[in-house]
Amino acid sequence: TIYLDHQATTPMDPAVAAAMLTAATECFANPSSPHAAGIRAFREVERARGTVARFLGAGRSEIYFTSGATEGNNLAVKGVVGGGPDARPRHVITTAVEHKSVLDTCRSLRAAGHEVTVLPVDAAGRVDPAAVAAALRPETALVSVMLANNEIATVQPVAAIAELTRAAGVPLHCDATQGVGTLAVDVRALGVDLLTFSGHKIYGPKGVGVLYVSNALSDRAPLAPLLHGGGQERGLRAGTLNTAAVIGLATAVELLAAGREREAARLAGLRARFLGELAGLVPYTLNSGTGEGFLPQAVNLSFAGADAQQLLLEVTEVAVSSGSACNSSAQEPSHVLTAIGLAPERIRGSIRVGFGRFSTEAEAVRAARALAAGVRASAGMAAAQPA
Ligand code: PMP
Repeated sequence: TIYLDHQATTPMDPAVAAAMLTAATECFANPSSPHAAGIRAFREVERARGTVARFLGAGRSEIYFTSGATEGNNLAVKGVVGGGPDARPRHVITTAVEHKSVLDTCRSLRAAGHEVTVLPVDAAGRVDPAAVAAALRPETALVSVMLANNEIATVQPVAAIAELTRAAGVPLHCDATQGVGTLAVDVRALGVDLLTFSGHKIYGPKGVGVLYVSNALSDRAPLAPLLHGGGQERGLRAGTLNTAAVIGLATAVELLAAGREREAARLAGLRARFLGELAGLVPYTLNSGTGEGFLPQAVNLSFAGADAQQLLLEVTEVAVSSGSACNSSAQEPSHVLTAIGLAPERIRGSIRVGFGRFSTEAEAVRAARALAAGVRASAGMAAAQPA
C-alpha cells in the first residue's frame, strides 16, 4: 500500500521503536519509585521532558505528559474552565474547524451551563483575529484555536490571536497536533499559554502526548486535573507514566528537530508532483491551499460526482482518507468542509492526501495514477475495453 494518510497517523520511525524497546526492557521501573532503578527511569523521563521543552521553547516544568492530543485538549479546556475557585458560568471561544476533541469538550461545558462561542472561518478555513477580539467578554475563561487543520491544512494566525488574548488577560490554548511535524512551534513566539500535541502524528508512539501549560498560567490559576490519584505530573495528570512511550515521543521530537525545513520543502515537492500528475489524468478541485498559510505536506481535493468513500474502498493500493479519519465512523459530512462552505456533493467527492517521512516521488506518481484510474472507472470514463 502507498500510505498517504499521515494526518490520521504516521508510521513509527525505526529509531523511535529502538529507543522504546530499550526503555521498555531496561527502564521499566516506576519512575516514582525511590530505589536506584526507579531513579534511573525518573531521570530518563526528565531527560525526555527536557527534550520536549527545548523543542517548544518552554521550561521543563511546563511540560506534562498525557495519553495523546485528545486528553491534552480535554485537560486544557476543562482544566482551565473548571479550574476557577468559584463555580460561576464562564465563557469559552473556539472555532468551527477544531478537532472534535476540542469541539465536543466545549459542547460538554455548554451542557454544564457554560457559554461557548464557535467562530466561523473564511473559505480558506481561517479564523479572523478581529472576530476573536470581538467575541471576548469579561467572563471569557479561555480561547482555543488550533495551529493547523487536520482536514484542510489551514494554518491559523495563532500569534496574532495571542496578542489580542494576552492584552485581554485571557489564556489561549492551541492544539498544535498537526503543526508540530513541519511548522516551527515555539510557545513564546506563538504567545500561547497552553499547547497540545500527540506522539503518533510525528512518527512516535500512539497513546502518548504533551500538554504545555505556561508557569505563568499555572501560578495564576492552576488547572483542574481530569484524573485524580498518585499526583504524578505535578498533580495535573495522575497515573504511572508510560516511560517507554514518553522516551519514544522524545526521540520522535529529536528526529523532527534535526531537519524540519528541508523535510517540509521535500514534502511540498511530493505534493506538487502528485497534483501535477493527477491534473494530467482527471479533473479535480482543490479544497485546501498549497501555498503560504497551509501545511506543506497535505492537500484536500474533490472529484466531481465521485463518492470518495467508495473510491477509497476500490483503490486498494492507496491509503488516503475521505473527510477526517477521526470521524470516519460518522456518516454526516465533515464539519470542517461544511464550515468552509462546500456543498454536500463536493464534500462527498473529497479526499485528503498527506505525505510523510517515508513517502517517495515514485509513490506520489503511482498514487495519482491509481486514484485517477479509480475515478475514471467509477465515472464510466475508462477507455473501452477491446472485445
Ligand atoms: N487534534 C487534532 C488536530 C488531530 O488531528 C488529532 C488526531 N486526529 C487529535 C487532536 C487527537 O489526537 P489523539 O489521536 O492523539 O488523541
